[in-house]
Amino acid sequence: MIWCSGWELASAVSNAGGLGLIGAGSMYPEVLKTHIRNCKKATDKPFGVNVPLLYPNIEEHMNIIVEEGVKIVFTSAGNPAKWTSFLKDKGITVVHVIANTKFAIKCQEAGVDAIVAEGFEAGGHNGREETTTLCLIPSIREVCNLPIIAAGGIGSGKAIAAVMALGAEGAQIGSLFAASIESSAHENFKNKITSLKDGDTELSLKQLTPVRLIKNEFYQKIKIAENNCATSEELQEILGRARAKKGMFEGDMVEGELEIGQIAATIHTIRSAKDILQDLVTDYNSTLNNFIKF
Ligand code: NDP
Ligand code: NDP
Repeated sequence: MIWCSGWELASAVSNAGGLGLIGAGSMYPEVLKTHIRNCKKATDKPFGVNVPLLYPNIEEHMNIIVEEGVKIVFTSAGNPAKWTSFLKDKGITVVHVIANTKFAIKCQEAGVDAIVAEGFEAGGHNGREETTTLCLIPSIREVCNLPIIAAGGIGSGKAIAAVMALGAEGAQIGSLFAASIESSAHENFKNKITSLKDGDTELSLKQLTPVRLIKNEFYQKIKIAENNCATSEELQEILGRARAKKGMFEGDMVEGELEIGQIAATIHTIRSAKDILQDLVTDYNSTLNNFIKF
């Protein structure tokens, strides 16, 4: 959710009854501080901050999170053992994102409070094993007692009911909110999301960091290079710097890196976070009622 989830989206989700998250991966420390402060002004409900552990100024981010009194932190893309005790010592609830059973066990050992189990369908950074949400949740449930928040491919109340039937306690949703009114993403990116069909995204750049991308011209360049057995250095050169910002924040649909999940194929309109959440709850409840009737 880098470049999409600033304070406006996070506070709108929290005000509507979800747990909004500020995506800190795209924010310099001072920007993160501004977003946390704005979020506190915009909601009196709980909200959290998502910090990818490979972020360059991680210590600064963590110190700001503590100083600003954030109560919930989602970490990802790194070893949960590194920051969990630091955060928990300050009374912060820690949730770590994983995509396989090996890391679920590591999370349990590191003492995190809950895990996000994110399947192959998800947008952006993704697991190497390509395990789908349908297979991942029951596999994690077998090895781990922590509360599971399922992610990847969730775009309806029916999908929330499905992952809860598989053993999850909750669901994390990205793509639907990336295309929301309150998302800080560029309008071009939001409109692009609503135009996508199934098959329009692919897990790319596995040699560097696997990331699900929309198949635009930038993706095609990477694909051709990969088919020609490009080295990691050559791929890194094509990727360059700040591609995600170029695409998702500045609106370059040709040369930008466009990260979104497979479920985008079912997103047809740009709606408010409140409308999205209300529809999810209505659909979830009617799904459960339909099951009871059968
Ligand atoms: P904000 O408090 O939202 O922004 C403060 C700073 O954060 C600015 O430097 C801004 O960059 C940066 N920023 C905003 N969102 C993100 C993000 N998701 N990741 C990393 N950095 C971010 O106040 P503003 O008055 O700037 O913005 C008001 C609202 O409009 C906000 O919700 C903002 O996210 C959104 N916005 C949307 C844009 C777009 O759709 N293209 C562009 C800018 C803001 P900078 O101002 O340098 O772009
Ligand atoms: P790049 O190295 O290509 O570019 C860095 C980008 O992050 C720039 O756009 C830069 O903004 C911004 N940025 C924010 N803070 C810093 C900082 N302290 N130092 C340098 N750059 C900073 O990285 P990506 O855009 O691919 O990824 C940025 C971050 O987001 C990483 O931490 C990455 O792990 C995370 N990420 C998470 C994803 C996910 O969870 N799904 C997906 C992709 C990335 P500017 O251009 O204004 O300098």
